Amino acid sequence: MTTADTDAATPSPDAPHASASPTVSPTAARTEAHSGGSDGAGGSGGAAAPTGAQTETRQGIGVSPGTAFGPVVQVAPPVRPPKNEPAVDDADAALADVKAAFETVAVSLEQRATLVEDTAQQILKATALIARDKGLVKAAGKELAAGHGRATSIDRAVETYAAQFESLGGYFAERVADLRDVGSRAVAAVLGVPAPGVPVFTEPSIIVAEDLAPAETATLDRSRVVGIITEAGGRTSHTAILAAQMGIPAVVQLAGATSIPAGVPVAIDGDSGEVTIAPDMALVTAQRERASRRASALAELSGAGRTSDGHAVALLANIGGVEDAVAAGAQDLEGVGLFRTEFVFLSATKAPTVDEQAEIYRGVFAPFEGRRVVVRTLDAGADKPLKFADLGPEENPALGRRGLRLSAERPDLLDSQLEALAVAARDTGADVRVMAPMVATAEEAAWFARRVRENGLPKAGVMIEVPGAALRSRDVLTEVDFGSLGTNDLAQYTMAADRMQGALSDLLDPWQPAVLDVVAAACAGAATVDRPMGVCGESAGDPLLALVLVGLGVTSLSMAPSKVPVVRLALSLHTLADCQKLAEAARASRTAVDALTAVRDAAISELTDLI
Ligand code: PEP
Ligand code: MG
Repeated sequence: MTTADTDAATPSPDAPHASASPTVSPTAARTEAHSGGSDGAGGSGGAAAPTGAQTETRQGIGVSPGTAFGPVVQVAPPVRPPKNEPAVDDADAALADVKAAFETVAVSLEQRATLVEDTAQQILKATALIARDKGLVKAAGKELAAGHGRATSIDRAVETYAAQFESLGGYFAERVADLRDVGSRAVAAVLGVPAPGVPVFTEPSIIVAEDLAPAETATLDRSRVVGIITEAGGRTSHTAILAAQMGIPAVVQLAGATSIPAGVPVAIDGDSGEVTIAPDMALVTAQRERASRRASALAELSGAGRTSDGHAVALLANIGGVEDAVAAGAQDLEGVGLFRTEFVFLSATKAPTVDEQAEIYRGVFAPFEGRRVVVRTLDAGADKPLKFADLGPEENPALGRRGLRLSAERPDLLDSQLEALAVAARDTGADVRVMAPMVATAEEAAWFARRVRENGLPKAGVMIEVPGAALRSRDVLTEVDFGSLGTNDLAQYTMAADRMQGALSDLLDPWQPAVLDVVAAACAGAATVDRPMGVCGESAGDPLLALVLVGLGVTSLSMAPSKVPVVRLALSLHTLADCQKLAEAARASRTAVDALTAVRDAAISELTDLI
């Protein structure tokens, strides 16, 4: 075992235990009472929630652990004007309707601004001002006079403005998305259909959507969203990743989710992927009891990750910003294995300055004094577009200039980030290590490591998420201090299956024997040059797969903090030799399902009974 992966400070045995363990959240319990549940205190009432909806259980994919119960809030899709909308009879009356629609939009944005904080509040207030722009109403009036319908006139006026904003560039060009959002909301208002996006709601609820954009998920109000369900998405979609990081139970790929009527109570199980619509209250109670039994079993263990024979495997957190860092820092884990820095800037319209970045990074490092924090430099492009790091449209963005390739074309962005990281690392006591995303060759690794060291940062690493880099990990890792397997992208590229396509979930399954073979090759290469190899893809948080990964030679596991306790338990019940045998059994299987079944059958039942 190399030292770099075992030198993190061990938390004291009495460190606070992971609070994200899968229990029904207090907010969910509150919701239960709101929803008319008669036995919120745990009785066995057995009455269905009084909604008139039929009780029904459906199966999706659980991506963020825990259970929740609450009323559905449907996220409405963008609204477009109807095709061939007829001209209006009375242009003056129609103009009054259009004016009223824009006013409705402004008022609802202002109302929402009162429910959020700081930056989000400023953004919403500024967007409300766009809706009150007199020029926009006037432009719509011209379209009405030219013979277009109400919704079409709004849409055409907005597009005229958008073209002007785009040609002005700079600040104006950056407001185009907000302008179109106002337009879509005004079209919805004039048509009398629900406004697009997350509606205003005050009661703790379960958000249901076709899918959520990363920025939309990141700005959800954690205190009111007790669960997330999407009809699309997949195990490694960013909705799934963000939900797990935020500790919100989530299920993706739930057929017919968007047709569940708003307000109907649902119970979701983010581990099994089961969703029950209008559940019997006995089921909610049973779910809650099972979750609390599991939580107490997990709470018995604490401290550094190790197998039952003492082989150390660091248990680390995946985080996406200061709020996550503060929450994860208070938990019983050994540090951060992946700080996705691009998540901080998902809605930024211009590149952050060194000072702005340093301030954020200080906030992330501070909770981890004496512990490691592995920072990934901006992984912009493809599924994580950043407005200020856009190199223009590409035919195949996932295979294009993303990750480190984008940094090579915009070294200014990389240098300012490294400078800010170095400042923040000096100002705090965290053991900061920096790694690059989407590295494919040894030359790229060397180029990155040089820049990291030139900025005074002592440890450089690379994500191993491109099969080419995995197969040649010996050469790639010679250039740096450590590697971290990004199994989300590694599965995507090994199986040639777009991770954004939920329908390809079976191919994207990290249990695919071919993916395990590539992981094995990457670990073998790392061992020959004595470099630690962690995993920071979602597979690290699957307790059975975590055992296989350790058996293949992985030295640390980084995951959403809510998943750490069950992985710690899995390790504690198996020896390193057990893990190696499980890895052999998985690789000897012909299919992903066979691999999982073989490992589940051979793992210790104390674990499998619990998961
Ligand atoms: C991965 O690809 O496995 C990974 C951890 O990075 P991301 O999911 O952010 O692409
Ligand atoms: Mg990746």
